[in-house]
Amino acid sequence: QPELVGDFGVLMVWADKVRRLGVRTNAETPLDCQVARDFGAEGIGLCRTEHMFFDAARITAVRQMILAPDEQGRRLALAKLLPEQRDDFRQIFEVMVGLPVTIRLLDPPLHEFLPHNQSEFEEVAKAADVGVETLKQRASELHEFNPMLGHRGCRLGVTYPEIYEMQARAIFEAACEVAEASGEAPIPEVMIPLVATARELELMKDVVNRMAREVFAEKGREIEYLVGTMIELPRAALMAGEIAEHGEFFSFGTNDLTQTTLGVSRDDAGRFLTQYVDKGIFPRDPFVSLDIEGVGQLIEIAAERGRATRPGIKLGICGEHGGDPASIAFCEKTGLDYVSASPYRVPIARLAAAQAALNRS
Ligand code: PEP
Ligand code: MG
Repeated sequence: QPELVGDFGVLMVWADKVRRLGVRTNAETPLDCQVARDFGAEGIGLCRTEHMFFDAARITAVRQMILAPDEQGRRLALAKLLPEQRDDFRQIFEVMVGLPVTIRLLDPPLHEFLPHNQSEFEEVAKAADVGVETLKQRASELHEFNPMLGHRGCRLGVTYPEIYEMQARAIFEAACEVAEASGEAPIPEVMIPLVATARELELMKDVVNRMAREVFAEKGREIEYLVGTMIELPRAALMAGEIAEHGEFFSFGTNDLTQTTLGVSRDDAGRFLTQYVDKGIFPRDPFVSLDIEGVGQLIEIAAERGRATRPGIKLGICGEHGGDPASIAFCEKTGLDYVSASPYRVPIARLAAAQAALNRS
């Protein structure tokens, strides 16, 4: 049990007395949620639902859904996924009782969901009752040369809204079930990924709100929830004033925001960034420690424009930088409400948040 006891526990209590920033965690399994909670996480700042879709027991249904030729085919596969997804959220809500849980709707690089070999194609063909050749044809239609700049994030929700409908239904059904069983309502915050325009968020928020209304009517119970967005594209940061009309919170996705602002692939950067740091082009690896001059400026712009539209809009950060002390100092200075770090970095984030608060006072 990774509880913080002894002198270290005392130090953490002192840190909590002086820090202003909230500290949440990035987690999507009940075990990680529990570890983070024991380490003092005050909620989930990012639950990446695509990780749940890779589960071996359901990947065939996911592939069936992605490769379906039409909405009806997708809905058939989604019906298989709904009970499992509801169970995922129910378990997380149970661990995080009393704390906010930010659930990000599906943000896959689509190619990771496509079958990779003959036997995977055969499994999907059997489940969907269609020929392997038909599936291969469909997979080649979905092929992308640049998946990280492609059909991912809310773009998937815009083109296939039934996917986000299923996920939103699963969230609200799970929340109602937990409220019913425990007497304490979960606090879901539904987050839309990779938004670039206000209209994308408006469309996706309508899907989420519609599912909430449907589920609450069916269950005879209402759960309070928020709908917000990731800010992880430069355009989203610049348009934050318009985007805030539709979102009740922003969470800065600094992994993608760094990638898209610098035009450097987050997956391949290691090949040359060390030299860039050695030669003084960047002070530190910008995927580890926030590029405050560039990416940080976009965050400041977004915070300012978002607040101008919606005073008091909740602001957090959920990229890897949320667990990096220098980046946390920047978050303190910018007045964000919380940082979200991976479970084992939660204690460091608590200490760094306290240090940042002390340095300001
Ligand atoms: C991000 O882009 O910073 C983020 C948190 O989302 P992901 O890492 O899942 O793309
Ligand atoms: Mg991202």
